[in-house]
Amino acid sequence: MSDFIPVNVPRFVGNELAYLSECIDSGWVSSEGRFVGAFETGMANLMGRKFAVAVQNGSNALDISIAALNIGPGDEVIVPSFTIISCVLQILRVGAVPVFVDSDVDTWNMDVSQVHDNISSKTKAVIAPHIYGLPIDMDPLVSICNEHGICLIEDAAEVIGQTYQGRPCGSFGKLSTVSFYPNKHITTGEGGMVLTDDPSIAEKLRSLRDLCHSPERRFKHYELGWNMRMSNLQAAVGLAQLEGLPDSIIRKRQIGMFYSEKFQDLSSVNLPIVHTDYADNIFWVYGMVLKEPTSRSVTDIIDKLNRCGIGCRPFFFPLHQQPLMDKYLFRGKSLVVSEYLGSHGFYIPSGLGLTDRDMEYVAANVRNILS
Ligand SMILES: *Cc1c(COP(=O)(O)O)cnc(C)c1O
Repeated sequence: MSDFIPVNVPRFVGNELAYLSECIDSGWVSSEGRFVGAFETGMANLMGRKFAVAVQNGSNALDISIAALNIGPGDEVIVPSFTIISCVLQILRVGAVPVFVDSDVDTWNMDVSQVHDNISSKTKAVIAPHIYGLPIDMDPLVSICNEHGICLIEDAAEVIGQTYQGRPCGSFGKLSTVSFYPNKHITTGEGGMVLTDDPSIAEKLRSLRDLCHSPERRFKHYELGWNMRMSNLQAAVGLAQLEGLPDSIIRKRQIGMFYSEKFQDLSSVNLPIVHTDYADNIFWVYGMVLKEPTSRSVTDIIDKLNRCGIGCRPFFFPLHQQPLMDKYLFRGKSLVVSEYLGSHGFYIPSGLGLTDRDMEYVAANVRNILS
């Protein structure tokens, strides 16, 4: 048996160490160092945006996006249930209401056709998280939002470097957010960013991440801010990772295609969609979903893989079923696809640091367990 293969291992093969050394040698380690601006500009160019604001993580990026839009008590924000908790934290903190929609059973992305029915006079925004490397069908979503004057927040954490009909993911929302956690296509250890074309929103975001110092007098404050500033150390790694992004996307597609080929004859599971007419999957993670009816359980599969030294994780737990929501009013809703994905889905090692040998070993064991 080889050593344990975790679900994710990051890869550092470019200028990461050289840029980090520059930070240390020059003494520029805080957010005032040169890499922060360079990384922001690079990300803005990648996503075809005018402004980028680097923060401490992807959850922060979502938090200040909600704050910058002045979303407050009673406002509604439409969000899919099948995503990470980060999408709703600030909504709940300010006393706004997440209105959950279901997802598509094949793409695992939010079912855009349900957005329309959930719009009310209180709807302020839609949060659209692209799931697991395949984009949401953006055209219909963008037109619904435009038609109703609703703000679109695009959560592009899982699709850095991906395109929708040839346009960069992250270029569609009024605001777009990304994360640079180690399992994302670019990592800074911890890190995130908000991107926008709107100069006044960009200014607000910069102020919110830096304690809301007033422009006329530093250390004087009219509003509540946060310290979410990204350090030069993080940005140094991020810039090097951004330089390597084209290769990373190629590698992620290789990993995904390899697994899909190995598993194509497994009748017990649904595999990720490899392409649609608007995008080719970049397999943020390689997910699999048990088909119904099934006598298998995800917990059992995870146990069996772990015993072979292979990391495996369950899919997101649907937000509308979170115990946390009991404290709020969101009860009695049933979103069957999100519930099915949450209980039947799991993902296997697919990080950029995975070796070809690891892939063969994982594929053989997954096949063995699922056949
Ligand atoms: C990873 C992720 C986040 C959160 O990012 P962190 O940097 O871990 O806070 C938010 N949204 C999506 C869709 C993600 O995948």
